[in-house]
Amino acid sequence: MREQASIVTERISDRSVIQAAASRWLEALTVGSRESVALVGRHGDLRYLSVSPTLGDLLGYAPEELSQGLAFDLVHPEDRGMLRRSFAALAGDDGAVHSVDYRVRHKLGHYVRLSSTAANRLNDDMVRAIVVHTRGAHTPANTGEGSLLVQPRPVFLEAVQQAIERSRRNATYGFSVLIIELARSKMLLGSYGQEIVDEVLSKAAARVASLLRPGDTLGSLGGGELAVLLDGVRDRANAAQVAGRIQSTVAMRYHIGDHAIDTAAIVGIATSERVYERAADVLRDAALASNRARGHGRKLRAVFQTQMRVEDTRFMAMVSELHNALREGQFVLNYQPIVSLGTHTLSGFEALVRWHHPKLGVISPTQFIPVAEETGLIEPLGRWVLEEACRQMVEWGEPGLHVSVNLSNKQFADEDLSAHVEQVLQITGLEPERLKLEITESAVLENQDLATKILGRLKTHGVRVSLDDFGTGYSSFSYLCQLPYDTLKIDRSFISHIGDDGENTDVIHAIIVLAHNLRMEVVAEGVETALQAATLKSMWCEYAQGFYFSKPLDAALAGQMIDAHPQW
Ligand code: C2E
Ligand code: CA
Ligand code: CA
Repeated sequence: MREQASIVTERISDRSVIQAAASRWLEALTVGSRESVALVGRHGDLRYLSVSPTLGDLLGYAPEELSQGLAFDLVHPEDRGMLRRSFAALAGDDGAVHSVDYRVRHKLGHYVRLSSTAANRLNDDMVRAIVVHTRGAHTPANTGEGSLLVQPRPVFLEAVQQAIERSRRNATYGFSVLIIELARSKMLLGSYGQEIVDEVLSKAAARVASLLRPGDTLGSLGGGELAVLLDGVRDRANAAQVAGRIQSTVAMRYHIGDHAIDTAAIVGIATSERVYERAADVLRDAALASNRARGHGRKLRAVFQTQMRVEDTRFMAMVSELHNALREGQFVLNYQPIVSLGTHTLSGFEALVRWHHPKLGVISPTQFIPVAEETGLIEPLGRWVLEEACRQMVEWGEPGLHVSVNLSNKQFADEDLSAHVEQVLQITGLEPERLKLEITESAVLENQDLATKILGRLKTHGVRVSLDDFGTGYSSFSYLCQLPYDTLKIDRSFISHIGDDGENTDVIHAIIVLAHNLRMEVVAEGVETALQAATLKSMWCEYAQGFYFSKPLDAALAGQMIDAHPQW
């Protein structure tokens, strides 16, 4: 810049013309730059300013609104003293260059972190100014974890409220709110402790921040939840795309001390496609979506839909009704046949609970089991299921058949479980080898020591254990080898793709070979076609279960099936 300025001086002698020319030069040099450039005098008096559109966006102003510079009282009160001291020190130090990060109030009220680098050129005759470059501090290059700005809950809510109000004034403006949680947080806590989990969370926050654009707001809601306000992102497709990027970056491995930690991000999304009045409602909807995201699918993200709120209201009603339901005998068990692929005959049943609600009709366990888990009702309900399934098997009196009973993760974290199982076997008189308990990998991962203990005790009683939904969770082959499972159930998401192409079949084959090497038998879940059944049989999968053979049946129909000795 100095050279350029001297070319100008050689040609033109009039001082005001020189200044005008210098301004033009500067303007030309800063067009399209993300940085704003200011020349100020020894006392901070503004000589020249070029505001980049980026800075305007960042602070919510049109560039013209900033043509007189940033009013000092927009600077965060806590940062004003530091900024003053830094400027005074620089002004007295010829040739020095200082960099500072500080917070400035966005037009909507929340604070945005800026980064300025200032060079003292007061004694340079060609410049005679302090040259200040300013940009947003949220870019990956300069988001050091120390300077990261994560807003506390009230400030975040305020930013969302401002966005709501802006969207009501301006029909073309919209926003989205994402709630981000670490998957398996309980397990992380159990394995590494609070301090390390906090560190993972703060690194995750820094990664999320590096993806955000000027004007976006990152907040911490407490309880391990982060939230993001995406400014100007009004439609769900775009919001989901950002969520996907956030998930990819959060899922990258964390190195903390000697630990290498893997996790994933669960993201719930609410967008201003719906009309909101209160920030709390936006957050509530994003949280509902996040609950949904946790329970379903591998994407681990979901966009809020009105249906979720309807369901949530129904859920709240459900909580109070669940307690009566058990007392009034509204739960029943259905039985889904499990078929031997070798002999094509009935091998046993999986017991699946149903709630016959007096007004709403039959309610699926996927809807009420999570509620039962949250309210503690899972314990008595689980006991009832176990007892009823064992009782029914004895009543049918077909000694060759087994029954599989699902255990929720919460039940599996109960030290008394094995004692209770033993008691039920005694009361009902069912032979232990005819009972299989289905647990998921996450049940074990959430509570490894206790799980190992409980599994060991169950095995000494002679009860068998199935690993349910294999392939949907975070399969850890080391646990698979260590723990004494008898059966591995391949999740139906694998089976449903048989027939699409060869690739999936290879994976299934690999799982079956692995299970056999570990002396486990294999059940394929969700078999719906003859092709799927035949393919599985050709890969030496022992058992299959699914609509191709039979849907879950009520006890009466299941009893008739036993008597009919079907051959599939
Ligand atoms: P799950 O253990 O994976 O049970 C299998 C689910 O897949 C059942 O859904 C069954 O109806 C369904 N299914 C079976 N064959 C097919 C098929 O060919 N295609 C398709 N699309 N689906 C098939 P259901 O009965 O709604 O149970 C859902 C989940 O609820 C179960 O998944 C299990 O995790 C839980 N659950 C059910 N009963 C109990 C229970 O008594 N206790 C506990 N803790 N959980 C239960
Ligand atoms: Ca199951
Ligand atoms: Ca399953």
